This record gives sequence, structure tokens and C-alpha cells, in this order.
Amino acid sequence: MKKGKKLYEGKAKIIFASNDKKYVIQHFKDDATAFNNQKKAVMDGKGILNNRISEHILTQLNNVGIKNHLVKRLNMREQLVQHVEIIPIEFIVRNIATGSLTKRLGIEDGTVLDSPLIEYCLKDDDLGDPLVSTEHILAFKWMEIDELNLINKELNRINDFLQGMFRGVGIKLVDFKVEFGRYEKNGKKEIMLADEISPDTCRLWDVNSDKKLDKDRFRKGLGNLIEAYQEVARRLDILHEQSNIRPLKYTKPQAVKIKKKQ
Ligand code: 5GP
Repeated sequence: MKKGKKLYEGKAKIIFASNDKKYVIQHFKDDATAFNNQKKAVMDGKGILNNRISEHILTQLNNVGIKNHLVKRLNMREQLVQHVEIIPIEFIVRNIATGSLTKRLGIEDGTVLDSPLIEYCLKDDDLGDPLVSTEHILAFKWMEIDELNLINKELNRINDFLQGMFRGVGIKLVDFKVEFGRYEKNGKKEIMLADEISPDTCRLWDVNSDKKLDKDRFRKGLGNLIEAYQEVARRLDILHEQSNIRPLKYTKPQAVKIKKKQ
């Protein structure tokens, strides 16, 4: 697959054309930004880790029937993905209250929600990605009702799967943001999960210590962002190579020995 011209550059990724217009190349940068681009830094290796982690998660989702844009990882920083038109809404799913939800509504940080809470934000940096309602989405024709219903169902499936996957490696999935895109199939508009799922787009807390293993380490100036992302990759069994960075304390669940009946 040949890399063509740059089509779009975002805060953490660049999209390049390929020699087949059905596909584009998604390149993961090392740039970290927060608070609508007001805080910026370059984190060596972040793009490589997000490329691997997102590849792993989207592959797993595909295996359980949640279709998405990933075709294959091409190299350390790039993936071949299906070309979609990104819907201008950020879909947020929350299991535990934190971040903008607690600030906006005064909910106590760490409150476990009875059921997943879905929020929609308009993808518009100039406006600071404002929260919007279903009514706004329909009134301004950002989506059709059928598309929204389908996405809401997918969000719950994605959340169920990701919660289980992370819980299995000692991580709480606190919340996450995903994006969807439209593409044409047999003359009909279809929708699929796009963009990335990584510690840049999820809040991930260690089950025992609540230690943050995600981009909040950068947002809150906690340091050790790369070590935290490596820890996520290691627990998901993606990173096998030994690193000289001391892993955060995590004990693998031990097999339970069953006593034989006498
Ligand atoms: P919050 O609304 O609390 O800031 O974010 C909720 C969740 O969505 C967090 O997991 C956060 O990482 C993710 N999120 C929301 N907006 C963005 C965004 O513009 N970029 C990225 N990378 N993640 C976002």
C-alpha cells in the first residue's frame, strides 16, 4: 500500500491518502495535548504505544462482531484503515464519574454509576467540544435517529466488552470517548467505529490502587505517562520485550488449586 498526500492532521494523528481511495493511512504522533490544545508536549513513544494498543482493542472488538475501520497495522506508527467520513460527534461512555462530568454537575469524583452514562459532544475545537443533546443532534442534522439508535447500541456493546477485557488485567474502565464514521456499501450509507481506542481516549485506573494509567497523567501533571501506557500494553500482553522501566505494581491472578475429593 503506497502512502499518498496528507489529508488531515489532528492533535494526535495524521491521515494520509493511500493508492486505493477506499483506504487511508492513520499515523500516530507522539504529541500530547490537553485542555483544548492549551497544554502541549511531545511524549517519546506515545504514538507507537497507542498504535499497538488501539490495534489490539479494535481487533478484539472485530472478533466479537463490532465492526470498525481497522484493516491492519502497517508499521510501528501506522495503520491501514477504511476511509470513512467522521461524524462530528464525540461519543463518551462513563462507568465512574470523574473529569468534566464531576466539574459540570458537582458529582463526587469516583462515584460508581448504576448504569453506563452516554454523553455526546460536538467535535469543534473552537467551541471547546460542547456537550449536546439528542435533540441538538437531530435538530441540526448531525445524525439521523436510526444512526443514533444504532450507535447507542454499539456503545453499550463496546463498553461491556472493554470493561471485561480491562477488568481481566486488573484495570477499571472509568470512561472513554469514541468516534464513528459513515461509508458507502452497495449504494447505502453505513456506520462503523473509527478513530482509536487507547489510553489517550479512555480513563483507566488500576483496580487495587486507582492509579491512573491514561492521559490524565499528562492532563494532571502526574508524570510517567509512557510508563503507564507501557503498563497497559504489558497487561494486555502486547508488549513482550523487557523494558528497564519498573512496572507499576500488579500481581497476576493465580490459578486456584482444587483439592481432589478423598
Ligand atoms: P471528559 O469529558 O471527562 O474530559 O472526558 C471523558 C472521556 O472522554 C475521557 O476518557 C477522555 O479521555 C475522553 N475524551 C473526551 N474528549 C476527548 C478529546 O477531545 N480527546 C481525547 N483524546 N479524549 C477525549
